[in-house]
Amino acid sequence: MNYICGAFSKPYPLIFILFAGPAYFETGSLILSTMSKATKIFKFGGASIKDADAIKNVASILKAYAEHKILIVVSAMGKTTNALEKVVDAYVNQSEDLLQHFETVKQSHFAIIEQLFPQGHEIFTSVSDTFVEIDWMIEEDPQDEYDYIYDQIVSIGEMVSSKIIAAYLSDQGLGTSWLDARDVIQTDNTYRDGKVDWAQTSKNADRVLPVKLADNDFVLTQGFIGGTSENFTTTLGREGSDYSAAIFSYVLDAESMSIWKDVPGILTGDPRLFDNVTKIDRLTYMEAIEMTYYGAKVIHPKTIKPIQNKSIPLYVKSFIDPEGEGTLISGDGEVSYPPVVVVERDQALLHISTRDFSFVAEHHLGALFALFDKYRIKVNMMQNMAISFSVCVTNIPRRIKGLLEELDASFNVRMDEGLELITVRHYKEEVVKTLLEGKMVLFEERIRNTIQLVVKDVPVMKRKVEEKA
Ligand code: ASP
Ligand code: MG
Repeated sequence: MNYICGAFSKPYPLIFILFAGPAYFETGSLILSTMSKATKIFKFGGASIKDADAIKNVASILKAYAEHKILIVVSAMGKTTNALEKVVDAYVNQSEDLLQHFETVKQSHFAIIEQLFPQGHEIFTSVSDTFVEIDWMIEEDPQDEYDYIYDQIVSIGEMVSSKIIAAYLSDQGLGTSWLDARDVIQTDNTYRDGKVDWAQTSKNADRVLPVKLADNDFVLTQGFIGGTSENFTTTLGREGSDYSAAIFSYVLDAESMSIWKDVPGILTGDPRLFDNVTKIDRLTYMEAIEMTYYGAKVIHPKTIKPIQNKSIPLYVKSFIDPEGEGTLISGDGEVSYPPVVVVERDQALLHISTRDFSFVAEHHLGALFALFDKYRIKVNMMQNMAISFSVCVTNIPRRIKGLLEELDASFNVRMDEGLELITVRHYKEEVVKTLLEGKMVLFEERIRNTIQLVVKDVPVMKRKVEEKA
């Protein structure tokens, strides 16, 4: 079967047909007709599959698409990734609560399975067998690198969620084939931030996907994970399932991609932080990539490029109101946008200055950026002055620590922590003013229609009422 598909994707179909004979010819034409039936990509994130009712809701959404070819990408259920991160830390630190953390993850999954499947269903064994991979890992002393261990353990969240949901959909009469995403998405071995090998991934996709989609209308796979050429598991960065869906969209030349979320579409701000947010109906790829670059959490920042490159329309839709229009991101869009606010927490300002009062010149900057790259530190804003250089970075203590140690050899460094970075696209002064109430601005930059502010909360001071003697 693999051979047929591989030969089919090469530019010699005629030779292949002549030698393969009529039996194979039939399979070949079946694949051809499937490939001409356009595939949609649906991505369901953690919140949309957080419990048994949520999974039933996904099945009901998919029933409306029973006539389509759909490749479904799922995240881990609910907050499983956070829970598995605790398992990783407990294992690496060999802390006493390791087994307890792991047990919590297992229990939450089995509680859901019990509500979705009859006793004795094969999914119970299949999920247990998947969790056993963590058992094997944590039996040994932790000797490997943290990021490698992280990926091997945390990826199990997507492995189990995908098995559970594929089995449930099939039981509901929605014939669904499970696909191991690692057989398609190949990355390098940058654990926790795998870089996609596009050429190999496309080759794998051509070999694996047409056959799967020929046999099944629904194919379901994991977001967030990939595999190396040596078959180790990698992850693509937190919230990376959107990116996985975009990779599948690209290699399949999908008709469209939809991300199903707990919000009606892309909003003008985070509804957890602001009351008066509104939905944006249409966005251009350009606007969407800018928003995600500045930290809008609604879509993973790497998602837009692959779908823009192939002009694939991207819908952000609500799984609570699946009939709703959502937001459409595509090549053409509106001319004017409302102010869009993005808030990034956990920011730090680093003020880096030379020890000998020499200018911060190009060679210093080159060295500094090499270090940011080495420690994978995201630079969000920067300013260069005569003998100092200030940067606003995302504060991931594990990474910053290494950076500070190396910087200490040649520079003086001062760090302000606990800051927020507020970005407003298409800003209006009134909007900025209300956002800054109770905040002190440490760093500000305006470029065209975008304002960025690094701020700190200031306690609102009240004047004391003087006591009369
Ligand atoms: N489960 C992963 C995470 O929570 C990937 C994703 O949800 O997109 O980061
Ligand atoms: Mg998630």
